Amino acid sequence: MPDKMTSGKVVTGFSRGMHYLHDPALNKGTAFTEAERDALGIWGFLPPGIQTLEEQVMRVMGNYHRKTSDLEKYIFLVALQDRNQTLFYRVLIDHLEEMMPIIYTPTVGLACQEYVHIYRRPKGFFIGENNKGRFSEILQNWPDRDIRMIVVTDGERILGLGDLGVAGMGIPAGKLSLYSACAGIHPAWCLPVTIDVGTNNVDLLHDPLYFGIRHPRIRGEAYDALIEEFIRAVQENFPGAVIQFEDFGNRNAFRLLNKYRNQVCTFNDDIQGTASMALAGLYGALRITGQKLIDQKILFLGAGEAGTGIGDLIVTAMTNEGLSQQEARQCLWFADSKGLVVKSRDRLAEHKLPYAHNYEYHPYFPDAVNALKPTAIIGVSGQAGAFTGPVLTAMAKYNERPIVFALSNPTSHSECTAMEAYFWTQGRAIFAGGSPFEPVTLEHKIYEPGQGNNAYIFPGVGLGLISCKARHVTNEMFLAAAKTLATEVSDADLKRGSVYPPLKRIRDVSVKIAVAVAEIVFEQGLASIPRPEDLPAFIRSQMYTPVYPIISNSGRHQVYKNK
Ligand code: NAD
Repeated sequence: MPDKMTSGKVVTGFSRGMHYLHDPALNKGTAFTEAERDALGIWGFLPPGIQTLEEQVMRVMGNYHRKTSDLEKYIFLVALQDRNQTLFYRVLIDHLEEMMPIIYTPTVGLACQEYVHIYRRPKGFFIGENNKGRFSEILQNWPDRDIRMIVVTDGERILGLGDLGVAGMGIPAGKLSLYSACAGIHPAWCLPVTIDVGTNNVDLLHDPLYFGIRHPRIRGEAYDALIEEFIRAVQENFPGAVIQFEDFGNRNAFRLLNKYRNQVCTFNDDIQGTASMALAGLYGALRITGQKLIDQKILFLGAGEAGTGIGDLIVTAMTNEGLSQQEARQCLWFADSKGLVVKSRDRLAEHKLPYAHNYEYHPYFPDAVNALKPTAIIGVSGQAGAFTGPVLTAMAKYNERPIVFALSNPTSHSECTAMEAYFWTQGRAIFAGGSPFEPVTLEHKIYEPGQGNNAYIFPGVGLGLISCKARHVTNEMFLAAAKTLATEVSDADLKRGSVYPPLKRIRDVSVKIAVAVAEIVFEQGLASIPRPEDLPAFIRSQMYTPVYPIISNSGRHQVYKNK
């Protein structure tokens, strides 16, 4: 007797193990053993050969290299993640340097821009104005109930690309993949969320394929009420989960961070994670110049979340080194879209006020460089090419080893390329880019610039917070993360031109950052567990390693195999 009818087809018999092939967390594909195929009743759904994870990796890499564009590679990897999570993470961890620019910036930016066209399956949780009053109930739909790490965006400021509405989902999804790959945070603990409050992106609103709410962004009290509802819904469903705000617009990012930082366990990676990554890079650069942080004069291009976030953490670091807060702020200068941020300018946003010094106003960045003669320029403006030949030449004139960080993402928005930085300074610049740059050969010398990538920081910070169930996140934790990352840079790294360690070491680096962060959590009395005797071993024991679950005769499986 047929036991199931589907779309006119008669299905005789239904494999009890079929869902193993369709659940990415359980699927092993051709690696299911004979015993498992017996236990699950899945003989016939797979070719007879049994393959190892390593053999599967080999096939994936062959297919990956056959893809002719980065976007196709991105789509291929995301499809693999949807099909076989273990294989995806094995491939990603083993080829992190090669795949980071695909799974994250710069390609993820392109993927978000094309999101509504390349969409296959949802890779995260969409919640929005249309669900108002039902957030908590809807969060119950998420199948994994032990959520510990949430990355949430409202899509307003995706990388340097602006408002992409719900198409920004690629960012929280990509970032959580990195939490798992770089710091071993179990994928089942991770939840990517996009809160749909509309979009002001006219192109998207007119795109027939756009699937977000089709009206301009909600602002004011209605917006705040939605965020509040989300935060409360998370506390009800996943109490204590870390909530990482991601790519919110300037007007909301600072406000929300300040509102929630002492209520729940939350941080904003664009502000605090970026700051930690940039400060670590500065510490590395200062090892080359032999100078002290407190002797620097740093000019930022861009006074938004990244810029003033970095500024605020440098101030914390400088005050730890003996300066007063006022003296420390005096070392930092900002230029934004309207020119140098100075006291005489009116209607400055609140986060810029501490850095509005009593000084002559310069509308143009090159003039500000010549007037201030900074030791370092840091680009966080999203303005491609803003570090022009004259700017870089001036930096080389005033400094033996000018520090030039062009951190804007994606690559197309970088303030200068690595080649430009080295060319205009005769190879003297200490350069870091936000996106990866190929090695540069100049006058027979090869420079391998480091990537100022948040991925050095946020996975380790997340692992540290989760491991000791932190109640809040403080600036001191990001300072500790920066110092730890800086100590992981070897003399050989500096010699080849990088102020960051190689990405292939990232899992080890993340553990060290996690330990440093957890130490501060315990020190500040913010942990919810007693301090384990061997903190590094405890943290390592929490980490996910992609290995296939072992399935017993009864079809039971050991899913969360943390190693
Ligand atoms: P933001 O929107 O908060 O701030 C952008 C700032 O740039 C604003 O102060 C704005 O006034 C200024 N700006 C805009 N046009 C300008 C111009 N023509 N000249 C001078 N300043 C101008 O954005 P954000 O979060 O601070 O991010 C800025 C950039 O930094 C983005 O491209 C982002 O991708 C990048 N970023 C990189 C990393 C990393 O890991 N490398 C981390 C965070 C942010």
